Amino acid sequence: MFEKILIANRGEIALRIQRACREMGIKTVVVHSEADADAKYVKLADESVCIGPPQSAQSYLNIPAIISAAEVTDAEAIHPGYGFLSENADFAERVTQSGFVFIGPRAETIRLMGDKVSAKNTMKKAGVPVVPGIDSALPENPKEIIGIAREIGYPVIIKSAGGGGGRGMRVVHTEAALLNTVSTTRGEAQAAFGNPTVYLEKFLEKPRHIEIQVIADKHKNAVYLGDRDCSMQRRHQKVIEEAPAPLLNARARSRIGERCAEACRKIGYVGAGTFEFLYEDGEFYFIEMNTRLQVEHPVTEMITGFDIVQLQIRIAAGEKLPFRQRDVRLKGHAIECRINAEDAYKFTPSPGRITSLHMPGGPGIRVDSHAYNGYFVPPNYDSLLGKIIAYGDTREQAIARLSIALSETVIEGIKTNIALHRELLLDAAFLRGGTTIHYLEEKLAKSAREE
Ligand code: ADP
Repeated sequence: MFEKILIANRGEIALRIQRACREMGIKTVVVHSEADADAKYVKLADESVCIGPPQSAQSYLNIPAIISAAEVTDAEAIHPGYGFLSENADFAERVTQSGFVFIGPRAETIRLMGDKVSAKNTMKKAGVPVVPGIDSALPENPKEIIGIAREIGYPVIIKSAGGGGGRGMRVVHTEAALLNTVSTTRGEAQAAFGNPTVYLEKFLEKPRHIEIQVIADKHKNAVYLGDRDCSMQRRHQKVIEEAPAPLLNARARSRIGERCAEACRKIGYVGAGTFEFLYEDGEFYFIEMNTRLQVEHPVTEMITGFDIVQLQIRIAAGEKLPFRQRDVRLKGHAIECRINAEDAYKFTPSPGRITSLHMPGGPGIRVDSHAYNGYFVPPNYDSLLGKIIAYGDTREQAIARLSIALSETVIEGIKTNIALHRELLLDAAFLRGGTTIHYLEEKLAKSAREE
């Protein structure tokens, strides 16, 4: 096992990874920007290295600075967390070339999955169901584009091969709008991702977002750790996540899970990963694979009893998965609320000093947050302050516990989205389960109209 791991991230996930390391007796090095010098997890780390000014481009995305930090501290492995460099194949390659272990899949796998056209093709070949569409980039020829869209049938969605974070995609409802939309999306894709390649697929009108957590070792063992429903979204950003997905039967779950685990074996996947699907009328349609730890991994940990971060570390060190598929049992239900420093209804970020803080507790409650009383939320990064997760024997119990936990939570000095979460946990459609990815935006639009 490693003696020392460098954590190349910040915020709640840096703390989460640090906790996993400490439990395993592994020393931690935390790299941080000048804006995060006072963070508690920086103080708790065995060593810390300031790698640059607040701007991410000069700190958390600064590959040479991170590699040098690993060199001067004699770290053996680097955990990238999520976001920042976690899905950057060049970073994974540089880490390995510099003699460190990258805690994640091989660079070539990250590269393959980072291009959505190649990811979709690879998965289709590996037997994973994908959204109907074309198997390659859209051609230049306008007639061919029109022909492709007709064949698939409107509405269609134009997506950037290099896209991410819910950006670089547009829906087209009629042929009249098709060619203009393709060229706008190409322009945006070039500007935002440096890659003008776009592709086209069927636009699903009322899907849910259901994803499968997988984990694979370097010895060709791959298992799936059940599914999560992340349909409660705003602007393609997840707000509430839960496991298992409500109203999904056990057979459908194991069928899609098996396909994902098999695909991992076929492509030689290593580490933790997530297959994201749209789910409509009982069918799964692959949209992308995330080759990293997800924000919402705790809900899976709660219902499986596994520590996904510790498994990532063990796998990176070359250990075999300590269990098989038949040992994976899903028990109970878990729901996570992402607590953001933002206005609950206007969604404007709300950085600043926390003047009073009280986090909830009690049976089944888990809080993953780096915030503390007096903590200054820097304006430079995304607004995630942490996550409150509730576990229960049933979905109803998890919801009840989460509602109580949110009612106990006090965060003053900045705004948070707790009021929105409390409202959602009382929402009749959410309580029934199975709402689509459009539900939250439609609900917000409706209440804005009523005001
Ligand atoms: P990103 O990598 O930017 O997150 P994804 O491919 O995961 O992009 O898509 C993000 C979101 O966009 C999905 O969760 C879904 O809400 C919507 N979306 C993507 N493809 C489709 C589609 N074919 N039909 C309907 N909605 C889609």
